Amino acid sequence: MPAPHSNVDTPVMRQFLEIKAQYPDAILMFRMGDFYEMFFEDAITVGPVLDIVVTSRDKNSDDPVPMAGVPYHAIGGYLRTLIERGFKVAICEQMETPEEAKARKTKIVRREVVRVVTPGVLLDEEHLRSEEPNYLVSVVAEKGEGGPVGIAALDVSLGEFLVMRAVDPNALRADLSRLAPREIVADAGLHGWLQEVLGPECPRLEGMGVGAVSAAVSARVRRLAEESGGERLPAALERAAGLCLAYAEATQPGQTLLLHRLRQQSPSDHLILDDTSLRNLEIFRTMREQTRRGSLLWAVDATRTAMGARMLRAWIGAPLRELGAIHARHDGVEALLGEPRLRAELASRLRDIRDVVRLAARARLGTASPRELGALRSSLQALPGIATLLAEISARRTDHAMPELLGLGDDLCEDLRAALEATLVDEPPSHTRDGGMIRDQADRELDRQRALRDGGREALAAIEARERERTGIGNLKVQHNRVFGYFLEVPRAQQAKVPADYVRKQTLVNAERYVTAELAEHETAVLGALAAALTREQELFVALRQQVSVAAERLCQLGERLATLDVLVGLAEIAEQGGYVRPEMVDEAILEIEEGRHPVVERMMESGRFVPNSLSLRAGGGEGEGQAARFLLVTGPNMGGKSTVMRQVALIAILAHAGSFVPAVRARIGLCDRIFTRVGAADDLGRGESTFMVEMRETAQILSQASPRSLVLLDEIGRGTATYDGLALAWSITEFLHDQIGCRAMFATHYHELCGLPERLAGLRNVHVAVHEERGHIVFLHRLEPGPAERSYGIQVGRLAGLPAQVLRRAQRILTRLEADDRVGKGPQLELFAPSLPGEEEAEAELAGVGHGHAGGNGNGNGNGNGNGNGYGQAQPAVDPGALAVVDDLRTVDPDDLSPREAHALLRQLRERLAATGQPQPRA
Ligand code: ATP
Repeated sequence: MPAPHSNVDTPVMRQFLEIKAQYPDAILMFRMGDFYEMFFEDAITVGPVLDIVVTSRDKNSDDPVPMAGVPYHAIGGYLRTLIERGFKVAICEQMETPEEAKARKTKIVRREVVRVVTPGVLLDEEHLRSEEPNYLVSVVAEKGEGGPVGIAALDVSLGEFLVMRAVDPNALRADLSRLAPREIVADAGLHGWLQEVLGPECPRLEGMGVGAVSAAVSARVRRLAEESGGERLPAALERAAGLCLAYAEATQPGQTLLLHRLRQQSPSDHLILDDTSLRNLEIFRTMREQTRRGSLLWAVDATRTAMGARMLRAWIGAPLRELGAIHARHDGVEALLGEPRLRAELASRLRDIRDVVRLAARARLGTASPRELGALRSSLQALPGIATLLAEISARRTDHAMPELLGLGDDLCEDLRAALEATLVDEPPSHTRDGGMIRDQADRELDRQRALRDGGREALAAIEARERERTGIGNLKVQHNRVFGYFLEVPRAQQAKVPADYVRKQTLVNAERYVTAELAEHETAVLGALAAALTREQELFVALRQQVSVAAERLCQLGERLATLDVLVGLAEIAEQGGYVRPEMVDEAILEIEEGRHPVVERMMESGRFVPNSLSLRAGGGEGEGQAARFLLVTGPNMGGKSTVMRQVALIAILAHAGSFVPAVRARIGLCDRIFTRVGAADDLGRGESTFMVEMRETAQILSQASPRSLVLLDEIGRGTATYDGLALAWSITEFLHDQIGCRAMFATHYHELCGLPERLAGLRNVHVAVHEERGHIVFLHRLEPGPAERSYGIQVGRLAGLPAQVLRRAQRILTRLEADDRVGKGPQLELFAPSLPGEEEAEAELAGVGHGHAGGNGNGNGNGNGNGNGYGQAQPAVDPGALAVVDDLRTVDPDDLSPREAHALLRQLRERLAATGQPQPRA
């Protein structure tokens, strides 16, 4: 930091500037006695963020240095605020006492940065959200912006280390929204591009290139990949892992991070949910309020441990694609579902399990407290009980093998438990400062020091009794304070009896304090024993923590087993409470759901109110009459339940692949490679794109990435633009998905014109959400039925929403007129702007239905449009959108730009396109 200030030339400021120069982009918290001080820009920046006063170090100078400080014991809260606001903080401690500095003949104490806290590298429990991982991610471009990248993700609090390759920005976005990193480290040259790709969700970016990765770190990555049983990583992944590790290690000078293993994830391992789907389907949080409540994860999370909660999140965010692995999870849930009593006991034991993995990582870094090791001990103590319950379940399964996921493995870390039990007191303190963490009889040397200390105390009591006796001062007391150590206190009234060998030390209002030679001697002995005992305790504790540190990898493995068990117990509970069934998983492109329900909407509703729906999709072959279609076109009124049923299909598929049972009476689900959704657009103004642009970008992504094994759910494509542009797009998108991709798909739309498409596209079927209408009353049945919907009921829904009667009346008139004849493409229809329209009577009649219906009267609305059986429910204009597209194109042509030959070719082409549409052909 440049220091324009003239008065920084003091030893301590020079020391500060030297250290600050090594951490230019971090807030430097500089320990001075009982405070952490921040200077210059740092002080000015954090003042308002932490709501602390910015003063100055040398108020009287004409160029004062800005300064702000926080008390050392309160640093936790301040740190949390800074990290949440995306700052990086370097903590600089005093490494010696002033006395030690003096002994070295220097004026200032030695100071060093002991750790750097950044949003991506958090180790303190108080900063971590227990149910989520806290990833630091690195991104390394293979060729440059826009191309493939290597990604590494490291959670230092768990020792979890992943690498993956993303082929393009879409894949990068998908991976990052699943990992939800708190910080990204990448070459500074990539930052602009990353910000563009990730938009407002981009976390803190740290600039560091692979050039800064030492050979030692690279070698460590290679060794770790080998030990994790993998082949050598591709270069970009190795470099990404090196970058991630190098940055993380630089934040913990002199420490070795716990790295459990290095796993490579490839897109084919998982059912891919892109970022849009994660958001739209509200997998981890709701779209609007951004809360966990209301998300899929919330609906199926009954885990008891932090490790289980994190694992469930990982399962749901990256469901499996391999039948065997999915079956293994379903087997686990099924076995536990069948044993309600033992399962309940398991659940209650799991409650005693603490975050063993994070505790192991903290032990590795030497930061785990006595209380935390106590928590580890009680977790390990719960294991034998859990193992017994599992053995009982196994014994009861006479005709089936025990599912392999229901086990704790062979290593219950008994040795560690024994050591913790033998060494730690029952209720260990939260820090080592004052001792009191090691049991009696754990160590002979400690016991000896303690005996000396206690013996000294007894001797002091004996002195007190003897001196009372000798002097006849009945209320003479031996006391202790920090300034004078041990002394004898005599009330003022008894001063006359004080013997000559007492040396006066202090005079109080009512008493005098004295010392004696004997007292001083005992004091030395007691204090010596006390200090020795404390030192010994601290040594023993560090050794115990070291023992845990050595076992950290074993504890991580155990943690994984426990987390799996916790997730399966939770899923079995959810299955029981929610009436979920085991889905049959098959390796075909089908999807059959009988009486399926939406796991979240159902939970939010009064029991029994949710209307279940059945449907069946089958891609490829067998599309004759009576066969299941691969593509459903869903029509029906607003509020009818189209979105709900489509989301429900996606969520059921996700749950099934993740290993959960599903809310249905029966489900047969063929493996999916990806699930794509385009549901209800939200503007992405943060990325500078309009609603329609976002919709089209997302659709483009689907069309380019979907395979025959994908599941595609589209809700209302093409609404954000002119009606016929939208319709034309929706139409051609439907055809493309049907003809070119052939995947399982559902498309909810209000374009009733599309309902004619199934006549031409063999794999497409019309279904609609039913509504019951009687004299203008509309009741949403939320039931999926075959065939197209008859009309949209937009105006009725507008009425339910409370639009003013005048607006409704007028809308009804306009609608009636529009329906009466084909008005489209005829230019401005000025008569519609007239205050009243011909055909008003019909309109009034229709409206009477709307109005009275809901008031409970008996209006005589005719309600229904004239369904004409070919899927064109309403009296919609019979203009083929393909034909309209031709007309549109024609409009854009400037004849002056064309040569006669080009004009001829164009005419030909337009005629051919027209012939391919359903539009009545012009006479030849
Ligand atoms: P729009 O066309 O306006 O987007 P939509 O047809 O997509 O409407 P949804 O948003 O799916 O309608 O559903 C509207 C409301 O109806 C939901 O908020 C929910 O409360 C209720 N609902 C939907 N499906 C069901 C169901 N199967 N059982 C009970 N209630 C349902």
